[in-house]
Amino acid sequence: MSDLAKTARDVRRAVGAAHAERKSIGFVPTLGALHDGHLALFERARQQCGYVVVSIFVNPTQFPPGTDFESYPRDLDGDVKKVEGAGVDLVFSPSVVEIYPPGDHTSVEVTGPLAECLCGPHRPGHFRGVTTVCARLFNIVQPDRAYFGEKDHQQLLIIKQMVRDLRFPLEIVSVPTVREPDGLAMSSRNAYLSSEERRAAVVLPRALFAARDLLNAGERSAAAVLATAREVIDSESLVSLQYLELRDAETLREIHAVEQAAVLALAAHVGPARLIDSILLTPTDY
Ligand code: AMP
Repeated sequence: MSDLAKTARDVRRAVGAAHAERKSIGFVPTLGALHDGHLALFERARQQCGYVVVSIFVNPTQFPPGTDFESYPRDLDGDVKKVEGAGVDLVFSPSVVEIYPPGDHTSVEVTGPLAECLCGPHRPGHFRGVTTVCARLFNIVQPDRAYFGEKDHQQLLIIKQMVRDLRFPLEIVSVPTVREPDGLAMSSRNAYLSSEERRAAVVLPRALFAARDLLNAGERSAAAVLATAREVIDSESLVSLQYLELRDAETLREIHAVEQAAVLALAAHVGPARLIDSILLTPTDY
């Protein structure tokens, strides 16, 4: 059975006791509305750490104005049931004022190329909200390792950069994207989709897989890969593409030919949902 903590103090106490037993601390930050993608992160943390902490916090600062902060799915009771059996020791579910006390004015922002492309320009302030909350949560939990999904590849790189730059004494571990049987990346936002939109959304992974197939067949031109993926998405009128880009997997610099590890990343609107997905194209794939 997982313990539930509402305050930073409770977390510090529980983590301190685990440290005293010489257990390493694994931490998985989430927005809640948990699905099997989150569970994969918990399992990895369980395999590598003696004590696993999961935070469930719909972080207001990472939702740009006019986006879905109010409507984001919240189901703490359901989430607590899902973490049972996943080997999670502590669920941290703080209030907004616990994380952002009144009078508090400190943000953490990774600037530069990683934050200026892909989702950066489309969601102003989003990554600053993510790095700010992660910095605060890392300081509260003080984990040895923190776990992030490959699905949010840009977020993963930005968090790694923050950890490096601020010398947080922890390791960032990435976990591959967990998908539905038809390929759609699991996401709490999939709950926004009608059944028709859900069916349409499958063009997103299909586009990524078509691009990978083309690379496997020997194509190296970024333009050709992008055109193939775009064609798959354009065939579905319920899906409106926001961006589809092929970039270096580490620096996120734009590339014109796929000669080294690359990421093909997209964002699209499907009905009320803005969905993102990406695929890593590593040299072993082609
Ligand atoms: P979220 O609650 O959506 O902020 O996600 C919390 C963590 O779970 C992030 O590190 C995400 O990248 C990761 N995550 C979300 N969806 C998936 C998925 N389908 N597969 C693997 N990891 C995921």
